Parts: sequence; structure tokens; C-alpha cells
Amino acid sequence: MIIYIDMDDVLCDYSKEKEAKLKQFPEIKFPQSQQGFFANLTPIPDAIESVKYLIESDEFTPYILTAPSILNPHCYTEKRIWIEKYFGLDFVDRLIISSNKGLVKGDLLIDDYSEGRGQESFEGELIHFGSERFPDWKVVMVYLINKT
Ligand SMILES: [Mg+2]
Repeated sequence: MIIYIDMDDVLCDYSKEKEAKLKQFPEIKFPQSQQGFFANLTPIPDAIESVKYLIESDEFTPYILTAPSILNPHCYTEKRIWIEKYFGLDFVDRLIISSNKGLVKGDLLIDDYSEGRGQESFEGELIHFGSERFPDWKVVMVYLINKT
């Protein structure tokens, strides 16, 4: 099964960092447009272990599918740096940066948004991360493992 995994608020804690930076530097209205913002995001609990499990699994072929923050050109590079930092250089080949997640072919998409970046037209199944049904990685992984 080909499985796509979003980055912001699924793998890395975008919202927590944005909130912290807004408190720390209230004069900077869009901290997500600052250099270094995306490279230094902290992982969501259990995200790294879960993706590593999927990488090792024979049943799943995981890809990272993330939409860019187009006003911050650094984000393209920093997302790449983040993936290498946590999953190693080989997995960087599985990083897809796209504003339209509906164009890729696959079985599953784990995303905290169900629409807006093409999620609504994704041909496979959407696992809505952070929803009541899929609140965290533990629940998502039980669901995925039960599919195999
Ligand atoms: Mg997201």
C-alpha cells in the first residue's frame, strides 16, 4: 500500500512552534515565514517511530506529501533538511512537495486537513489526523496494522 504522510501538524508540531514564536516575538506576524522555522520544528509524539515502522514494513510504501508555505522560500529546503534529520538521506527520495495532494496516486493519505490542498480529490482513503477517529499516531498505527 502506498501511503502519503503530511508534515505540518502530523509529523512536526507546526502549530505549537507558531504559537510559541508569536508569544516570543509578537512583532513578527508570520513566524512561519522566518528562515529556520521549518527546519527546527519538534516532532509530534510517536510520529518518528511510526514512520520508521512503516519504512521497515513490507506492507507499506510511505511517502511524505507536504504542501509548501509559498511565502517562505526557505521551507522547501528546510522540509528536506527535517526529513533527513529524522529519517536519513535515503528517505529524502520519498519527499514530495506539492500544493495539490489530489494529483498523486496511492492508497492512503494521513493529513490533518481533509480539504484545501487537494485532499478532497485524493483517490485513496483519507486518514484525518487529529480528528475524533484518529486523534494521534497510536490510533492511526493500530488502524494501519489492522489493514495488513
Ligand atoms: Mg498539515
